[in-house]
Amino acid sequence: MATRHGIDLDKARALHARETADFLASRPRSLSLAQRADEHLLFGVPLHWMDDWPTPASLYLAEACGARLTDVDGHVYADFCLGDTGAMFGHSPAPVAEAIARESARGMTAMLPGEDALWVAGELARRFGLPVWQFALSASDANRFAIRWARAATGRDALLVFNGCYHGTVDDVFVDLVDGAAVPRASLLGQVYDVTEHSRVVEFNDLAALESALADGCVACVLAEPAMTNIGMVLPDPGYWEQAQDIIRRHGSLLLLDETHTISCGPGGYGAAHGLRPDMLVLGKPLAGGLPAAAYGFSAELAARAQQAKRAAPPGHSGIGTTLSASRLACAAMRANLAEVMTEDNYRIMFERAGQLAKGLRELFARFALPWCVTQLGARCEFQFAAKPPRNGSEAGAAQDEELERCIHLYLLNRGLLITPFHNMLLLSPHATEGDARRLLEAFGEWLEGVA
Ligand code: PMP
Repeated sequence: MATRHGIDLDKARALHARETADFLASRPRSLSLAQRADEHLLFGVPLHWMDDWPTPASLYLAEACGARLTDVDGHVYADFCLGDTGAMFGHSPAPVAEAIARESARGMTAMLPGEDALWVAGELARRFGLPVWQFALSASDANRFAIRWARAATGRDALLVFNGCYHGTVDDVFVDLVDGAAVPRASLLGQVYDVTEHSRVVEFNDLAALESALADGCVACVLAEPAMTNIGMVLPDPGYWEQAQDIIRRHGSLLLLDETHTISCGPGGYGAAHGLRPDMLVLGKPLAGGLPAAAYGFSAELAARAQQAKRAAPPGHSGIGTTLSASRLACAAMRANLAEVMTEDNYRIMFERAGQLAKGLRELFARFALPWCVTQLGARCEFQFAAKPPRNGSEAGAAQDEELERCIHLYLLNRGLLITPFHNMLLLSPHATEGDARRLLEAFGEWLEGVA
């Protein structure tokens, strides 16, 4: 009997074949749309990532509301993926949907500021402790622009990231640590420059490596998620960030925190919840309740240096910004979302639900004596195929198992439970019910009965 991570592979594969057949048999409308899509869409999907779900054909969405999705065949799902965080506070939160309906009739974009932008920047300053803000359309863009400002302001070229990171489609950070050396990430398509020339990479939770990578004084900024979430979750060791921040400051580098996923930790993200003091901060995905919008903040000192750099540069394109950024509509949606949806009360509900689910998963894995762990980051939790929580990207990467993930995800999906593809990550919106979490634990338990 071949086993992996405590699972009987033969049984898991046989069950997966049955689940594949069940999916196809019960979704005729999705199947017919998927067949039609091949004609005009690359890989048969409007964004090629949508081809990475564990389903044998695309699952077509009819509508989404709160924590529920309905597919075109009428199946209803409890959504623990939430658009991979874009809909973290539930699909179409009413205050945001109302603001969009109201304001979209009064001008969507004009490349002129409106009063909502001031309110939003003031609120972000209050939550994140950084006084000056700019806006973008996606977290990828916000990271790209923040890096550019950091380089312009410091006059330094290099960038440092943590092994296994993901910060969106920012070419500079597609570097991996292989046998102690930085190498371009092999999966990056169409990039012809050697990104390792100006990008450095060290393991998370390794203070000595951080110190030595910054020692020559060439690094403009360290771009980091305060806790890693994209290669599986990796939490900082106790006291790690206090020391890491001191090291970064001592070498004259900036700390750029990417809170796009760790905004699950509270209204001011992980940084505010744990007293971090970044120089810059990026926020994207759920900021406007699902409408494309992102923001990045500066300390007062850095804002002054950034403005000085722009004034000193020759007139012309800065390479920073896009035409639709900070549009009237996006600002109205951000305002409604921050004021009425990303509230302390909603976070409290999300934490409670995520805590219940994390506890239930731990009990489940203990019942089946599986060497798996569960990590919670506020409203988000993740199970990993490792006995102990990984301490860095290499350990987290080693705990991933795409085949097992696909088996589990499809089994759950066929039972009306949707979890994030390419992760074992579960997000709890304020609309998730205790019943949703219970159903997920029951279905997962059934799967384990069959294969563990
Ligand atoms: N930062 C982090 C931490 C992310 O996880 C992601 C996307 N998963 C991004 C940035 C990029 O977000 P987007 O794809 O919306 O640009």
